Amino acid sequence: MNNYEYLLSDISILKGVGVSLAKKFRRKNINTIFDLILSIPSKYIDRSIETKIKDLHIGKIQTVTIVVEKYNFPRVRNLPNKVICSDNTGKLDCIFFNSFEGYIKKILPLNKVVTISGKIGFFRGKYQITNPTHVSTDENKIKKIHSNYSLTEGISDNIFNKVINEALIKLPKMSEWLSKDILNKFENISWNEAITNLHKPKQTDIEKKYINRLIFDEILSTFLINSKIRINFKKKNKFPKKINSKLVNFVENKIGFTLTIDQNKAIKEINNDLSSKQRMFRLLQGDVGSGKTIVSLISSQNVIFNNYQVAFMAPTEILAKQHFNLFNNIFGKFSSAQLLTGKTDYKERNEILKKLQNNKINIVFGTHALFQKKIKFKKLGLIIIDEQHKFGVNQRKKLSEKGDANCDVLVMSATPIPRTMMMTLYGDMDITLIKSKPKNRKEIKTYTKDVNKINDVIKFVKKEINLGNQIFWVCPLIEESKKIDHQSAVIRFNNLKKIFSSNVGLLHGSIDKDEKDLILKNFLKNKIKILVSTTVIEVGIDFPNATCIIIEDANKFGLSQLHQLRGRVGRGIKQSSCILIYKSSLSENARKRLKILKSSNDGFLIAEEDLKLRGYGDLLGFQQSGQKIFKLADPIINADMFLLAEKEIKNIERNNLNLTKYKSLLKLYDRADIINELI
Ligand code: ADP
Ligand code: MG
Repeated sequence: MNNYEYLLSDISILKGVGVSLAKKFRRKNINTIFDLILSIPSKYIDRSIETKIKDLHIGKIQTVTIVVEKYNFPRVRNLPNKVICSDNTGKLDCIFFNSFEGYIKKILPLNKVVTISGKIGFFRGKYQITNPTHVSTDENKIKKIHSNYSLTEGISDNIFNKVINEALIKLPKMSEWLSKDILNKFENISWNEAITNLHKPKQTDIEKKYINRLIFDEILSTFLINSKIRINFKKKNKFPKKINSKLVNFVENKIGFTLTIDQNKAIKEINNDLSSKQRMFRLLQGDVGSGKTIVSLISSQNVIFNNYQVAFMAPTEILAKQHFNLFNNIFGKFSSAQLLTGKTDYKERNEILKKLQNNKINIVFGTHALFQKKIKFKKLGLIIIDEQHKFGVNQRKKLSEKGDANCDVLVMSATPIPRTMMMTLYGDMDITLIKSKPKNRKEIKTYTKDVNKINDVIKFVKKEINLGNQIFWVCPLIEESKKIDHQSAVIRFNNLKKIFSSNVGLLHGSIDKDEKDLILKNFLKNKIKILVSTTVIEVGIDFPNATCIIIEDANKFGLSQLHQLRGRVGRGIKQSSCILIYKSSLSENARKRLKILKSSNDGFLIAEEDLKLRGYGDLLGFQQSGQKIFKLADPIINADMFLLAEKEIKNIERNNLNLTKYKSLLKLYDRADIINELI
């Protein structure tokens, strides 16, 4: 048995872990022994020092050794059972609410010497401990440092401790995977030392070095995986593409605007990659509305001119469709494009799959559906992933496998991601930034409005409509129940219909495809003036005639998400506005957040503030999707360790180090499915 196999075993192999307890652990996402021992205590309580009764401090947790003198079981409802105990300096009562006499007699046997630890109370002139949990005739069991686990809903600390003890008995000795230099930085603490000291510390103020070592392991394993994906990816040569130098001009004439300096620069960098033998693995990062789409479409057409295919993946169907339409408008006469989503019907889909295999389709736009195994390309040359951070490592890997050796990858994101997260999500990727926005853009004016003043908002909407403008009206998803998650949008829609009649449209996840398309078409044609929706419009969609976005319960969204939503307007030359509606009972923090949005239109600044106020999970939308990348590490708090891990990865890459040394580490951190194929 490999030493990591025990750690990856199911918790139910541990003595004392039956079906119901295992279930409780699983609810806390603790499935393996490894999960269990990575549940680090939230605090430690020192019960090691014995105190005489006369020296007890009320309100403190203290340990005394006493003789059990007398039981007092009143057998009257609501009156607690009492056990009178003493040492040679005074008396102490143990008070039990809701405990059976048999149990009490068992843990506190008459006339026996017992060690007991608990919070000291004082009642009618006597010290007391209520419902003591730490009691034993064996003083060694009590007189030590006790670990307190916070993840214990439904599992008492005693039981958690017992199970941990059980797991630690057979803890295998792991051979060191960290390099000498790195290990030195963590005071040469081995993995085993770190685990044992965190669960069974010798003092309560346990030094940071133990947990830091484990945090570092977690970061390093993640980076290693990314590094392998990337190296593997770049290792294989591809067919260099010829670039059509007239394409930008052609596009500019067709769409009626000139590209910005940064857009041109981005195209140049991508062209360099396309025409090189090395595969491209590039992130195109630019704030909402900076014009990433057109850059990616020009790149696509360049690849198609070389008789290679393109897979363009968007996070939502609506967005895929919009990109598809735009592509068709510009390049329709050169290329055959298709849209493939989860909703494409069976027959059409089979047709598309066939054509993709024969290279009769040059570019396919779609959502997650493009990941499926069945989809095979004849000559895939470029994969484009829009709003990349919504896809996981696994999905990315699956997609990049499709293109075998000849495939370039371009990912696009509007979310400014701090360096630590960048390494976590992408590894050390090449990055192109679009900083400037297209000319003639007016700043979006942002207002906040108490929901009680909704009538002012309605008045404003009427005015906008009279000017020929269109309005997005966004309602939050209600998460508790999937069935009615769009309820707030439906209510608002019915409400607005009474005022604006057929000028209002409704869009949410449960509306079927045809109706959705019709509504969007009508909105685009200006037949609908107000589009009420859930966050389905969040990413990327482009309606140049929409000049106002109203967001209800704005405080329920992350700042970056609000900024993205706001980016749906202000895309034409008209003055646009964003109205953030809130309920009067806003917390201080929520008020602060809305204020930041009001005062800034800079996605990078907003993301930074968002990070400070809500942590990294929210920025990337991980909290909503229930994903958590790290168990222990925090990209903000542990930023220095992320940088250290980055250095180490570069060192490993530069020296072409053998990864077998890291095998256990990678196995334990549950990325084995990816790593197996790569090593
Ligand atoms: P994002 O970077 O958020 O994906 P888009 O590519 O959707 O932004 O572009 C936003 C809007 O800006 C679109 O309506 C697009 O047609 C327009 N646009 C893009 N580039 C320019 C430009 N150079 N000049 C004017 N408008 C542009
Ligand atoms: Mg976009």
